[in-house]
Amino acid sequence: MLFINNEWVDSQSGKTLDTFNPHDGSIIAKVAEGDKTDIDLAVSAAKIAFHRNSEWRLLDASARGQILCRFADLVKRDLQYLADLESYNNGMLINFARWAIAGSEKSIRYIASLADKIQGDTLPADGDVFAYTLKQPMGICGLILPWNVPVLMFINKVVTALAAGCTVVVKPAEQTPLTALALAALLKEAGLPAGVVNVVNGYGPSAGAALTHHPGVAKISFTGSVEVGKLIQKAAGANNLKRVTLELGGKSPLVIMADADLDMAVRTAAFAVFGNQGQMCIAASRLYVQSSIYDKFVEKAVEFAKNIKIGNPSEPTTQHGPQIDEEMMNKVLHYIEKGQQEGGKLLIGGQRIGDQGFYIQPAVFSNVTDDMTIAKEEIFGPVQSILKFDTLEEVIDRANKTSYGLAAGIFTTSVTNALQFSKHVEAGIIWVNNYLSFPPQCPFGGFKDSGIGRENGMDCVNSYLEVKTVNMALSKKF
Ligand code: ADP
Repeated sequence: MLFINNEWVDSQSGKTLDTFNPHDGSIIAKVAEGDKTDIDLAVSAAKIAFHRNSEWRLLDASARGQILCRFADLVKRDLQYLADLESYNNGMLINFARWAIAGSEKSIRYIASLADKIQGDTLPADGDVFAYTLKQPMGICGLILPWNVPVLMFINKVVTALAAGCTVVVKPAEQTPLTALALAALLKEAGLPAGVVNVVNGYGPSAGAALTHHPGVAKISFTGSVEVGKLIQKAAGANNLKRVTLELGGKSPLVIMADADLDMAVRTAAFAVFGNQGQMCIAASRLYVQSSIYDKFVEKAVEFAKNIKIGNPSEPTTQHGPQIDEEMMNKVLHYIEKGQQEGGKLLIGGQRIGDQGFYIQPAVFSNVTDDMTIAKEEIFGPVQSILKFDTLEEVIDRANKTSYGLAAGIFTTSVTNALQFSKHVEAGIIWVNNYLSFPPQCPFGGFKDSGIGRENGMDCVNSYLEVKTVNMALSKKF
């Protein structure tokens, strides 16, 4: 079913798409497949819900926040169900799903609290005038989601847009349509008026493109690949001038200095690239280790990877699950092959496991150099590439030699190393002696080709707001 105007409806064409369980490749559901016609209906519903006299627009800002807080309560109530569904449809480890959804519940509360803190300024404008700014919701927003962390992405984008007072049409990834529908039901239960959130499942080139080209849509927020991000930016300017927020890929460097706590660095570096089966835009897929500890680090990294327990993601003791689908699995296997052909040394893993489901044993490569494909392109799979460096100066330059700029990390006990690295590396987030932590208070987004704009943080609602200046004459004398 599609969710339009708080109702469950079939797609106009009657078409459905199959959705799979990555654990065994079986079809778990047929979901209504929307296309341009359904997007048009959803945008119409969102437009009515955005009318200045609509229930949504007449709500107090604090009441908007309260609806979102009720939504957080419902996400908490249904956390196990949502985590099971996420794991079933995405192959995400059940514990990882619980962690991600618990974090998302906190994000809802943080972002909801911003709804009634949207303030303009009074301006010391020239002349005998009273001038001030209003910050007003942009309008109808198209939110296009990826498949790697579906609940987290839905919540983050939808709740930010709603806190700002916008209405939305969500296009989930075709691989993971289910949790978005479950969350839409919870939003309705929380008391959201009809048409404020609409969910249209479907494919990128049909439903997604219809949304990005729709002249009635004021803004697109997208998370996904750089290639599609570029298409979206182009489409956003084709029929009207949509604002865009893009959160795209990465090839994030993680640097281990010789003075680091080695065991902690090995553990964190593994989680940073094998977590969620490597299907993270922030994956630390370039691991730079200082030459004096290189051999020791590699030995420990291999030992760590050897002991990762692979299996059914719904088992709580499993540490590594399947890739999302056959296509992605083959893409990752291809990168692993290429890594070997170009001279990387595959020390462990890198093979498909079994012939059911889409499992790959986590791979560790040593002797990787900057020019190799596995050190340059985003793999989106469990491939740890370990490169060698001598000095901090050198590794900062090498870290920046990429068109990406999403995240970076350093393990060191020297404050100077940490500060120098943090200052000079071109990335939207720098982790020092940790990795993968992104609480809602911290802005998140990329430099360079990793994106445009920031999500999270105190300013997150601003990217869904227009600033309006009001300049009022106080006297006839100017
Ligand atoms: P991935 O490569 O991780 O599958 P994509 O960037 O291809 O990620 O897809 C992320 C989201 O973008 C999905 O919801 C997908 O349907 C959508 N998408 C893909 N192509 C387009 C397009 N041309 N226009 C709009 N959305 C698209």
